[in-house]
Amino acid sequence: MTLRLYAFNCGWFQCRPGFFIDGEEGDYIRSPVPAYLIEHPKGKVLFDTGLGERYRKTPETMMPENKFGLQTLADMEIAARLRGADIDPASINWIVNSHLHADHCGGNPQIPNATIIVQRREFEAAEETDNPALYHASEYDPGHPVKKIDGEYDLFGDGTIRIIPTYGHTPGHQSVIVTLPKGEVLLAADCCYTEANLQRRAMPQFSWDIGEGLKTLDRLKDMEAKGVRILFGHDARQWKSVREAEALD
Ligand SMILES: [Zn+2]
Repeated sequence: MTLRLYAFNCGWFQCRPGFFIDGEEGDYIRSPVPAYLIEHPKGKVLFDTGLGERYRKTPETMMPENKFGLQTLADMEIAARLRGADIDPASINWIVNSHLHADHCGGNPQIPNATIIVQRREFEAAEETDNPALYHASEYDPGHPVKKIDGEYDLFGDGTIRIIPTYGHTPGHQSVIVTLPKGEVLLAADCCYTEANLQRRAMPQFSWDIGEGLKTLDRLKDMEAKGVRILFGHDARQWKSVREAEALD
């Protein structure tokens, strides 16, 4: 059985390194806003959908690089990225959202026929938080069927796409372990922004629960020691080695 994993960058996250790791000095960095497509014989799955319309700029209105914020361009958004890879956005069956912040579910409305899979506690947190900069119902709940799960979930029951809870960044953050022919890949998303967060066991200040997040980092460290390859949430350095829109191995 062939499983394929593709990575796409669907926008830019601009901040100083201190946003990711407390006390870190340095100038602004422009980090990717990743989304991943997993092609399984039983269906097509997106892990996160990047930034959407609310953060869309044009080449003329793009923020300067020395400013904090999120932005995307129409041709970077998930529907355009999929079409660029000859994949019809309407053919996607599932969206697994790591969490419901704007840079992870902003493209949900562009994927019309998918069922959204999210941790129940994340969905409830989104409904209870009155801050549209973080959670915006038009993005996390655009009217698609929503499957709310509690904890681990093996998407197709064959162990190839395993959703695991990775709480800390938000109350119901989740990650996915994909089994590729060469080994397992963990799509971490924001339970671990960058490789440096894992190596230094450092949770950012802007976290729902730093203690929970550190427990998650310890589990990631164990997985890494067992040979699991980790793709981090917003890691500009790692992203340079990721081949976009090509099957990863
Ligand atoms: Zn994020």
